[in-house]
Amino acid sequence: MSHTFHKGGVHPPENKITASCHIIEVELPREVVVTFSQHIGAMAVCCRSKGEHVKRGDLIAKASGFVSANVHTPISGTVTRLDKWKTAFGYAADTVTIVADDEDHAGDMASIAGRETLRTAKEVASLSDKDIVEIIDNAGIVGLGGAAFPTKVKLSPPSGMNADMLLINGVECEPYLTNDHALMLAAPQKILDGIKLLMKAAGTDRAVIGIERNKDDAIKLFEKLTTGDPSISVAALDVKYPQGSEKQLIKAVTGREVPSGALPIAAGVIVHNVATAYAVYEAVYLGKPLIERIITVTGPSVKRPGNYNVPIGMNIADLVDIAGGVPADTGKIILGGPMMGRAVVSLDAPTIKGVSGILMLPYDKSHRDAVQPCIRCAACVDACPMGLEPYRLATLSRHKMWDEAEDDKIINCIECGCCSYSCPSSRPILDYIRLGKTTVGSIIRDRQSKK
Ligand code: SF4
Ligand code: SF4
Repeated sequence: MSHTFHKGGVHPPENKITASCHIIEVELPREVVVTFSQHIGAMAVCCRSKGEHVKRGDLIAKASGFVSANVHTPISGTVTRLDKWKTAFGYAADTVTIVADDEDHAGDMASIAGRETLRTAKEVASLSDKDIVEIIDNAGIVGLGGAAFPTKVKLSPPSGMNADMLLINGVECEPYLTNDHALMLAAPQKILDGIKLLMKAAGTDRAVIGIERNKDDAIKLFEKLTTGDPSISVAALDVKYPQGSEKQLIKAVTGREVPSGALPIAAGVIVHNVATAYAVYEAVYLGKPLIERIITVTGPSVKRPGNYNVPIGMNIADLVDIAGGVPADTGKIILGGPMMGRAVVSLDAPTIKGVSGILMLPYDKSHRDAVQPCIRCAACVDACPMGLEPYRLATLSRHKMWDEAEDDKIINCIECGCCSYSCPSSRPILDYIRLGKTTVGSIIRDRQSKK
């Protein structure tokens, strides 16, 4: 019996070039530019001044609402600038620049080498669910699967809604990306410790780790480590994109449907990524906020493709240089994977919490074919995992027919790109749908704010 979701989905070439690459620790840079809006929700508010000295892990911007997240510095140093900096996508973002001198740098390297645990297993066991959520909140942890939704918000569901299952996302269905796979192989016990903490914080006694069968080594490892523990199990899933999307993962593992427009908690499930579980382990056991993450730097012509553990705020161009620089045949550079990632306009931009990959595609794999007229084949409809009619949503967006687009549930689009991938006429379906979804979303928010 197939073990996956059944509505729509596609099978793009996996191209997991870095699947067998261990995690490479990137040396701490002498300068970082840390942005205050690295998460879904309200921008964090800076709590530092120019000229102030900060230590690695110090808070530099405070969460400014319930849906927001703290931001910390990954290096010790002096605040030299508080200004706007262009993100990789060309938007101006509020940032702080921190520069380390020799003493700062040497101190950080020594503290990394000699890092001790903050809490013993006994002390961790005595923490309450509220204590754990507070530590996660203070550590600025957000979902590391890509969406960067503040983790503490998922652990604080509306009253009357409870989860009976924690679903851990180890699917990593995006082609090329292997950062989660590398982490699962490198730190499985720490991920399991993080899962236990998330279970306690969520008030659930059951967790399932969903992993696709193209990561057989990770499946076997977690099955071995959870033998004899009835509270955590592993679901080995058939490979299918976009299985890492929350609603598709919930369907594949539990058979439950998340109602249209609702969050996973409506189906009794909370979903967290394996890397988020690892970040929770580090925050609780080591007292370490979210200041670094693993980023897959990859592409067919990249000299040193790999899974790099990167201080968040490090310049993207510097990271690309470590991986061998931009290959001469590059036609497009994407943050994330080829299906859901976005093309960058500049590499002179800081890494942020939500960046899971840097993909450099050669020109012959990155250019789009000429757009042809729609032949009404319905391939995009068959491919849509959300049961939408992509060709129609794209047309409604193109003609700015926002009421009709809202009625046709454009807001339910998860931007997976299955429609564009399947279209024999190379129509830019997702580009139009993204535009329409953003516009309809702001119309809905405006309407709700006036009620
Ligand atoms: S309409 Fe949205 S959800 Fe459906 S296939 Fe296209 S991008 Fe994915
Ligand atoms: S897949 Fe492309 S050609 Fe076929 S119906 Fe959809 S938009 Fe039209």
